[in-house]
Amino acid sequence: MIYLDHAATTPIPRAVADAMYTVLTEQFGNPSSQYSLGLDMKKQVALWREMVAGALDCDASRLYFTACGTEGDNWAIQAACWQNRRVGRHIVTTAVEHSAVLECCKWLELQGYEVTRVLPDKRGNITAGQILDAVRPDTALVSVMLVNNELGNLYPLAEIAAGLPLKNPKTLLHTDAVQGFLKVPCSAKALGADFITISGHKVGGPKGVGALYIGPRVRNPKPLLAGGGQEGGLRSGTEATAQIAGFAKAVELRRDGLEDKLRRMAAIKQYAAERLSAIPDLTVISDGAAPHILAISLAGWPSQNIVNDLSQQGIFVSAGSACHQGKPSHVVAALNLPKRTAGGVIRLSFGPETTEADIEACASALRAHHDCRMPML
Ligand code: PLP
Repeated sequence: MIYLDHAATTPIPRAVADAMYTVLTEQFGNPSSQYSLGLDMKKQVALWREMVAGALDCDASRLYFTACGTEGDNWAIQAACWQNRRVGRHIVTTAVEHSAVLECCKWLELQGYEVTRVLPDKRGNITAGQILDAVRPDTALVSVMLVNNELGNLYPLAEIAAGLPLKNPKTLLHTDAVQGFLKVPCSAKALGADFITISGHKVGGPKGVGALYIGPRVRNPKPLLAGGGQEGGLRSGTEATAQIAGFAKAVELRRDGLEDKLRRMAAIKQYAAERLSAIPDLTVISDGAAPHILAISLAGWPSQNIVNDLSQQGIFVSAGSACHQGKPSHVVAALNLPKRTAGGVIRLSFGPETTEADIEACASALRAHHDCRMPML
C-alpha cells in the first residue's frame, strides 16, 4: 500500500494504539468518579492536556478536549457570535474554509447573520489585507484557517491578529488549525487567535478527538453541549479517555524530532512537485507553504477516475475533498481555474514515513493513466 492521503487521516503508530489499549482495558475509570480508579484518570487527563497544550504553546487551562475538529470549529464560531451578539451580526471568513466552518456560517446566515467569504487568487493565496478590509464595526468574528486542507496554502494569521484590533477591537478571531498543528509553526501565543481548533487524527492520533484553545479575550465562553459540566463546565460529556490518551501519545511522538520530520516532508513535496511536473498535462496547482500537501491537476482527466485507477493499484490519493459527485469542490471552484484543470485536481499529502519510492510509484501510475486513458474533460 502506498498511502499519500495524510491530510485525510494518518496511520496510528503502534505506541499510540498501545496507550489507548491500556486505557480501554485497565484504566477505564470515569474521571468524574470519586474513587481511585476515577481520580487517577482525572490526573491522567490533566497530564495529557498538558502534553497537547505544550505542543500548541498554550496554558493547559485554556485547552478543552472535543470529539473532533468539526466540533471545535462549530463551538468556536458559535461562542464568538454569542459573546459579540451586541457587536453585530457580520462574520468574515474565506471561501476555502473546511465545510465545518462554512456550513456553520451558512447555519448562522439562516439566523440572520451576514457572511463575507473572501476569495483566494488562482494559487490559493489570501492576504491579511483582504481579510482586514472586510472587517466592519458590526463584525463579530473573523474565522480563517491556518493551512488549507486541499491546497496546502498557509494563511497569515499572526498578521491578521495584529491588524484586527485596529479595525475592530471587539471582533474575535478563530483559526481552524487542523491542518497546521505540528505541520507549520502553530503557537497559540504567536498566532494571537482567540480560538484555535485542532484534531487528533491528522497527527497520528485516533479519530474522534480534538481540542479547542480558548483565549483570555473570550469571557464566559458559551458551551456547545449542556450537561454534566466536564472540561471545566464548558464541554459536557464523559471524557473520551482512550482517545485523549492516544491524542497525547501521538503528539509526543510527532514532537520527537519534529524539525527533521517536517524538513523530510517538505523535501518529499518538492521532489513530488518536480517529478510529477514532467508528466504531460500535469501542473502543480498551488504553491502552499505547508510541507505535507501538494495539489496537482492532470488537466482533462477527471480526478475521480484517477483516484479509482490508482486505488486499484494500491496507491491512495484524494480527489477527496477535491471532488464532490463529479463537481469540483468549493475550494477548487474558488480558484476559478479553466474547466479541464479544475476537473483534474487531485491532492497528494505526505507524512513523516513517505518515501521517494512512494512518489516514484505514484508518478508511474499517473503517467500510465495519462498515456492509456482517454481524456474526458
Ligand atoms: N478542518 C480542516 C481544515 C480539516 O482538514 C478537517 C478534516 O479533514 C476538519 C476541520 C475536520 O476535522 P475532524 O475530521 O476532526 O472533524
